[in-house]
Amino acid sequence: MSKISIVVPCYNEEKVVRLLFEETNKIFESELKEHEPEYIFVDDGSKDDTLSVLRKLSKENKNVKYISFSRNFGKEAALYAGLENATGDYIAVMDADLQDPPSLLPDMFKSITTEDYDCIATRRVTRKGEPPIRSFFAKLFYSLMSKISDVELKDGARDFRLMTRKYVDAILKLKEYNRFSKGLFGWVGFNTKWLEFENVERAAGETKWSFWKLFKYSLDGIVAFSSFPLYLSSFIGVIMCIIAFLAIVFIFVRQLVFGIDAAYGWPSLVCIIILIGGLLMLFIGVLGLYLSKAYLEIKQRPIYISKEDNIKK
Ligand code: UDP
Ligand code: MG
Repeated sequence: MSKISIVVPCYNEEKVVRLLFEETNKIFESELKEHEPEYIFVDDGSKDDTLSVLRKLSKENKNVKYISFSRNFGKEAALYAGLENATGDYIAVMDADLQDPPSLLPDMFKSITTEDYDCIATRRVTRKGEPPIRSFFAKLFYSLMSKISDVELKDGARDFRLMTRKYVDAILKLKEYNRFSKGLFGWVGFNTKWLEFENVERAAGETKWSFWKLFKYSLDGIVAFSSFPLYLSSFIGVIMCIIAFLAIVFIFVRQLVFGIDAAYGWPSLVCIIILIGGLLMLFIGVLGLYLSKAYLEIKQRPIYISKEDNIKK
């Protein structure tokens, strides 16, 4: 018999947490009945009744644990808190909205115990029910990321995965403040098997990810796992210097050899100054992005602050 921890980050999920618990429990009463579940719900500073639902659930079921954050720290922090407090031999991470079907758990468990893998990850092969523009930018992000960073990111990869104790311990060793889990999972290595499934729509409630939030998330991912933008800025800087040098030589030669003077050039000068000014601002911005992340890391603030939990230490 193994103990399997189920880590669930929840932000304003009062409508679905109980549903998720019941659906997952059905699996533990049938296909996985020889194994003991441990649920760790992380309430990420919800503003609805998620916390009271969790309190009730944990009173009714002794294998339900919860942690409640003092404010919204984000899904990445919630995942970290969940993994940190999970005590199972195998640990699964799952969204609260049933978009990660619990029915896949038995197959995942079979693979991880019988084959030589430390992580069974999932990716959705369709994005049915998602706005096309969102799918387009998501695809663009994944292909860009796989080109400019060392970690391998799979298109459509979800955070839904089953991991061994060893794998989770490796993840927990990465204590960085700016957590981009999809990258961290890849960074630690080990053998990962990918299961594919069709997209499932949210059981109830709404997605927490606006377009702007996703855009910020992808920028965070790039800054955390790639130095490509920095190299690119330097590269463009060098190219511009070469072009400027050639232009200077050209103007000198034209003046000295052919006697064509360089007067009346001010409109082109203005354009060039604006172009270079713009590029400088852009690259200072890129630099600032990295600096701000480094600044947050140096402060060594905790990844999350818990205000209430029922975990005995
Ligand atoms: N979530 C969280 N904190 C946040 C935003 C989301 O813990 O600040 C949780 C949310 O409750 C859900 C999971 O992360 O369990 C995925 O969120 P959602 O379903 O809104 O994202 P989507 O599936 O639309 O990408
Ligand atoms: Mg969802």
